[in-house]
Amino acid sequence: MALPHCRHFLLIHLIILSATSLASPQEQETPVTRFQQYLRINTAHPQPDYASAVSFLISQAQSIGLQYRTLEFSPGKPLLLLTWLGSNPSLPSLLFNSHLDSVPAEPSKWLHPPFSAVRTPDGKIFARGAQDDKCIGMQYIEAIRNLKNKNFAPARTIHVSYVPDEEIGGLHGAAKFVHSVDFENLNVGFVLDEGQASPDDEFRVFYADRSPWGLKIKANGPPGHGSRMYDNSAMENLMKSLEVISRFRESQFDVVKAGKAANSEVISVNPVYVKAGVTSDTGFAMNVQPSEAEAGFDLRLPPTANPEEMKRRIAKEWVPAIRNMSYEIIEKGPIRDYMGRPLMTLTNASNSWWLVFEQAITFAGGKLAKPEILSSTTDARYIRQTGIPVLGFSPMSNIPILLHDHNEHLRDTVYLKGIKVYESVISSLSSFMEA
Ligand code: ZN
Repeated sequence: MALPHCRHFLLIHLIILSATSLASPQEQETPVTRFQQYLRINTAHPQPDYASAVSFLISQAQSIGLQYRTLEFSPGKPLLLLTWLGSNPSLPSLLFNSHLDSVPAEPSKWLHPPFSAVRTPDGKIFARGAQDDKCIGMQYIEAIRNLKNKNFAPARTIHVSYVPDEEIGGLHGAAKFVHSVDFENLNVGFVLDEGQASPDDEFRVFYADRSPWGLKIKANGPPGHGSRMYDNSAMENLMKSLEVISRFRESQFDVVKAGKAANSEVISVNPVYVKAGVTSDTGFAMNVQPSEAEAGFDLRLPPTANPEEMKRRIAKEWVPAIRNMSYEIIEKGPIRDYMGRPLMTLTNASNSWWLVFEQAITFAGGKLAKPEILSSTTDARYIRQTGIPVLGFSPMSNIPILLHDHNEHLRDTVYLKGIKVYESVISSLSSFMEA
């Protein structure tokens, strides 16, 4: 008796279910749901799932008829390249870059799991990578999708690259890519790479990155009893250096505090570790002055800084050898291009790419803030090394800066507006004939 009734119920239930799935906007693919799908692929270090991210992006490229190929400069670290051929392929091409990877997240500190891409009723999409920088990776594709639907045909060829390992220095990604024949063959004329969110209604744009240096300084001296006052101990020498370095730090910081320069326009130097002391099972020996003492610093040099002058200052003033001191500078990436010029892209009338870009933002109803130097570092530095102009730009306005932070999120309306901005940017730059 129960069986027919049960069957009947199941059938009705199935009909309702399929009707719901057809009608529900949740189930329909939209630019936002595609963005959520990309965000749900966990490409956070230390084990980024590059394979899934690349196969998802390939499926997107196929759905809009873009050519694609993967390059692998280091095993297990694919780089995906999408191409929309222009009607005049002899013109220098455009490259739109983003990175596949993201920094790790601490799920317990988040309102929503960092790889769930939950969209709240007020339109916030929570995910690691929502701002940095899976948004632009998908916006490029969506903008191209819309332009194709409008039958737009680019004159210049457009490439979209997805590189691995940006968050861990880019040595196995962008650094190798820009030195490859594959890159040379793209004949790139102008590049857009990632930028940062803006809390107000102007989009931020970056014309340079600061170059990071690691500085390790080491002092040596005779060991001695804790009670003795004597000259030239390792700790005394290290402390003298710390004082000189602190004064330099203050002189740079004063310029910022006085409003004469932005944070990213000065040389920053920040202590990151101090290592000294003689230890035993019970902890530090409090009556022994150690024979070695070491400290480490994070330095960031804007493109306007003179790296040779900085090296002279370190050798002469900060870590003088006559005080039994030695040092090591770890240069994390280039600081000058192949011609020996500072790594910066001009944002004035002498750079016609800039003028076209600026105008395209205005066409899309957007406003640009004064161009800035990025405080930190992106893969753009490797591309600038080749002399090709690069701007750092992520169209996110009226949103807190949440890259690498807990609860990284992006508002759906901001994401959708960004697609329109790229439609304008891609169509303007790819139609621009003079450069
Ligand atoms: Zn990034």
